[in-house]
Amino acid sequence: MLTEAADGVWVRQSAWVWTNSIVVRAEGGLILVDPGIDGSELTKLADDLDRLGIPVVAGFSTHPHWDHLLWHPRFGDVPRFATAAGAHAAGQARAQGQAMAAESASGIPLDLIGLVTPLPVDGGPVPGEIIEHEAHAVGHAAVLLADRGVLLAGDMLSDVLIPLLDARRPDQVGAYETALDRLGEAARHVDVVVPGHGAVAEGPEVAARLADDHAYIDALRRGEEPVDTRLGPDADWLSGPHHSNLEQARTR
Ligand SMILES: [Zn+2]
Repeated sequence: MLTEAADGVWVRQSAWVWTNSIVVRAEGGLILVDPGIDGSELTKLADDLDRLGIPVVAGFSTHPHWDHLLWHPRFGDVPRFATAAGAHAAGQARAQGQAMAAESASGIPLDLIGLVTPLPVDGGPVPGEIIEHEAHAVGHAAVLLADRGVLLAGDMLSDVLIPLLDARRPDQVGAYETALDRLGEAARHVDVVVPGHGAVAEGPEVAARLADDHAYIDALRRGEEPVDTRLGPDADWLSGPHHSNLEQARTR
């Protein structure tokens, strides 16, 4: 079921890690942001889109992790965009993304994973302002829809997941600090934040999300293990070797 989070912005939440598929009404049609997750959910999302009766004109991936690179034939053969860095990384990691999708969820159209191209400089069909930063994943983008008072945050500002640092890249604490500053600036223009995973934040909850992520990163900066009740990288849905964020912060 689609829930309208703001004017022309709808959200459908998956059972898989509370993943949010986001639908944005733009000039000419709908933009699908990070649709997911399993095949039956993608089909239900397509049914929801049919009921809206507005064609999908493009897709947008906030960052090159497999759960944000999905698509379904019923959404149409339309351009799918990411930042230039995100599109490059998605292409390189496509086979790995397909493997992770196959083992994590059922019915995902594997051949459609990660087929994203760089967003045109003028944004093309994607409305709003792209806020690109280096935290969490290469080429990560938030989308600021200031006219609707909404920030689409990708895998930042979640109420269910702690900040997840990109283990392969240096100075993720610094990258997070910079990204949170930029998202904080953007959040001054909104009263709704839609994270990639978790509940939509409204009103005072927006500042609380920023404060939670800041507190986490500040603890890492001080060399302390953060006290945080949200899920971490050792949650069983994240496969592969992992280390605590503190270990990463210390060794980089
Ligand atoms: Zn991610």
